[in-house]
Amino acid sequence: MHKLILKPGREKSLKRRHPWIFSGGIAKVEGKPQLGDSVEVYSADDAFLAVAAYSPESQIRARVWDWTMRSIDAGFFEQRIAHAAAARNGFDVSGVRLVHGESDGLPGVVADRFGDTVVVQLLSAGAERWRGAIADALAALPGVQRVIERSDADVRQLEGLPPQSGLLRGSAAQGPLTVTEHGLQYGVDTEHGHKTGFYLDQRDNRLLLRGMVKDKIVLDCFCYAGGFALNALAGGASAVTAIDSSGPALAAAQANAARNKLVSDDSNMEWIEADVFQSLRKFRDEGRKFDVIVLDPPKFAPTAAHAEKAARAYKDINLIGFKLLNPGGALMTYSCSGGVSPDLFQKIIAGAALDAGVDARIERWLHAAADHPVALNFPEGEYLKGLLLRVGV
Ligand code: SAH
Repeated sequence: MHKLILKPGREKSLKRRHPWIFSGGIAKVEGKPQLGDSVEVYSADDAFLAVAAYSPESQIRARVWDWTMRSIDAGFFEQRIAHAAAARNGFDVSGVRLVHGESDGLPGVVADRFGDTVVVQLLSAGAERWRGAIADALAALPGVQRVIERSDADVRQLEGLPPQSGLLRGSAAQGPLTVTEHGLQYGVDTEHGHKTGFYLDQRDNRLLLRGMVKDKIVLDCFCYAGGFALNALAGGASAVTAIDSSGPALAAAQANAARNKLVSDDSNMEWIEADVFQSLRKFRDEGRKFDVIVLDPPKFAPTAAHAEKAARAYKDINLIGFKLLNPGGALMTYSCSGGVSPDLFQKIIAGAALDAGVDARIERWLHAAADHPVALNFPEGEYLKGLLLRVGV
């Protein structure tokens, strides 16, 4: 077995069960581990700490699989995946996250289930090394007919891995794939859609929005497939505007609105293909106002190193967002940046409200749905955080 020996004192985060080992903390590598091979991790004073997957090119040089085992095999993935799936037993399999990376003890593995189809992302060297075992374990779950891979995220490059997508197990689906959420149906494009095809993490927050928009004017920024916009229509909003810079995303959103018969000819629904940063400025200059605004941008800060630049971007859209609100209006604002902590996010939003000259209160902290758990002691986790704010009358 290959061995990875840490520098003195560098075992502290591992002892707190933080699953990443950075290249700077490593004193010595014994043996010649290749991409994704398992390594035993030892402290400087030779105490065994964990078994981890080695990634020779990444700054995150190893990711922990387990804290007590010395080696892993295909059975390890069978067990972890069965365990992760069992933890989602109460969820509707129409759309559920089965595996959420580090938080399910499977760094670099993300798997969403849409009915009989599982879409998996293998994003780390270790996940890549065990792709067969992971695919087999997902395919073996009751009711699963096929496993589709969408390992085409940018983070693969940092691991020295090429993008890869396509059918991994089973045969291609006959008809189009859909997900039903709170009674609304959405198409899931597993080939060209973002990530696994649909953002399941906002499930609870979309329903929350539905309950607060009756007769309100709603703006959904970064709408993707229209999750928030459709819920606004379903909740009786008097007018809904949705913006995304991606043409295909907007086309999918419009198809979803039609699929659910939510828009008629004299529609109060406006779809805008544009950059949100520019659209918000345009609305401000035109004096347009809204009662409820949703800001659900893509991650601006993949890591803490990007936090400052990301903070400026978050502040920018939230500041203008506040200015576009009618008195008594609500802002639902999110960040999914791993590099921006909930604490920092609140500070950014507070700064935006101050500069916008509005008096805003937090009505609720918003989180990802419970099938997206967060590992304790893992602040880098890319999890959704959000705030529902109400401005003064
Ligand atoms: N709210 C969505 C998920 C948003 S994902 C849901 O509930 O499903 C982020 C979206 O932002 C993507 O669809 C992406 O195309 C879009 N996007 C990224 N940068 C943008 C920009 N500058 N202006 C407008 N849209 C942008």
